[in-house]
Amino acid sequence: MKFTESERIQNEANDYILGGVNSPSRSYKAVGGGAPVVMDHADGAYFYDVDGNQYIDYLAAYGPIITGHAHPHITEAIKKAAENGVLYGTPTRHEVTFAKMLREAIPSLEKIRFVNSGTEAVMTTIRVARAYTKRDKIIKFAGCYHGHSDLVLVAAGSGPSQLGTPDSAGVPESVAKEVITVPFNDIEPFKEAIHHFSDQIAAVLVEPIVGNFGIVEPAEGFLQAVNDIAHDNGALVIYDEVITAFRFCYGGAQDMLGVKPDLTAFGKIIGGGLPIGAYGGRQDIMEHVAPLGPTYQAGTMAGNPLSMQAGIALLEVIKEEGTYEYLDRLGKQLEDGVTELINKYQIPATINRLKGAMTLYFTEEKVVNYEQAENTDGEMFAKFFKSMLNQGINLAPSKYEAWFITIRHTEDDIEQTLRAVEHSFKELSLVK
Ligand code: PMP
Repeated sequence: MKFTESERIQNEANDYILGGVNSPSRSYKAVGGGAPVVMDHADGAYFYDVDGNQYIDYLAAYGPIITGHAHPHITEAIKKAAENGVLYGTPTRHEVTFAKMLREAIPSLEKIRFVNSGTEAVMTTIRVARAYTKRDKIIKFAGCYHGHSDLVLVAAGSGPSQLGTPDSAGVPESVAKEVITVPFNDIEPFKEAIHHFSDQIAAVLVEPIVGNFGIVEPAEGFLQAVNDIAHDNGALVIYDEVITAFRFCYGGAQDMLGVKPDLTAFGKIIGGGLPIGAYGGRQDIMEHVAPLGPTYQAGTMAGNPLSMQAGIALLEVIKEEGTYEYLDRLGKQLEDGVTELINKYQIPATINRLKGAMTLYFTEEKVVNYEQAENTDGEMFAKFFKSMLNQGINLAPSKYEAWFITIRHTEDDIEQTLRAVEHSFKELSLVK
């Protein structure tokens, strides 16, 4: 495959755009560098780059594109919405329709507010939880990404009863001190942290199914225990469902798993591909938000007619019967096929999969927490990534990102992907 035009455009991009990309995860830094492929257009499960190469896409824009690219129903809704004006700064009936659809799907959303990104949604839930509890600290789990606001770019201290340290330059120590980070899927450190800081913890921030160091499901009873212990200590539970909502069922992971947070943050899928975020939850907590309460949150673009109508159209598409069974069937086909190849070529790799989302980790150990995901073989992944790219398979350039299947992928796409995986594994097994 030739990438001449991609390289030319990326060279030019480097002159104007810092680092050549508008989000660091798009750079190929984690896979040995090189110019990221520049896409020209996308349709269904496929990407077409500026050099005319075609790819089967498993990035799905880091999750949102569950319907595949340019889904006709969503495209039509966006076109129609644009013809009626893209931004009003006034209420519209679409906000109400969409909020109603979301509450029908996710009953914990007694009241909801729309914002513009997952970052904003999470950031605001934390402010609301602090306002409600009149406490300042939060607990979160290691390796879970919650956007780029100061409060969540905080790394773990040296133990569960230690305060956090900035995980990005520019995050003040004073902010990091409000955050305690403990390992996912291990209730003891969480207990230690919450007991140590008990009357200071406003909220526990949880990805109910982790999507940011691959797909990692909660251990049996873990989420319920987190809920119970948090509530016993006067802390709220915030679910970050930016990746998980509508990914595994028509609703939140909370509905699938039968656990109920006090507040939830959303983004990604619910916008049908347009910028969106949302947060909501218990009425008595949400009442603290302006204009009813003293907690401020606002947004020029919040609830804009385009994102609302794209979101409604998206829900209409995925509500159709069979969506999640289809994603699960293709996911299983992919998982079974890759597992067979792992065994055939003796590749030190393991898979986590839930429905249409899968992670291939280059380690023999089952991955249940961040430390294990961090310890997987990045060099081997980098070789695998480049080999797959050269065969027209687009993955995220990260050793523990999920592969996302869309409703526009077909069994033939999975078969073609498995042939590429076999070729890549053969190459890897030769250099082992
Ligand atoms: N929470 C989670 C779980 C996410 O995966 C992300 C984005 N990857 C965010 C929050 C932030 O969302 P956004 O990029 O829309 O700000």
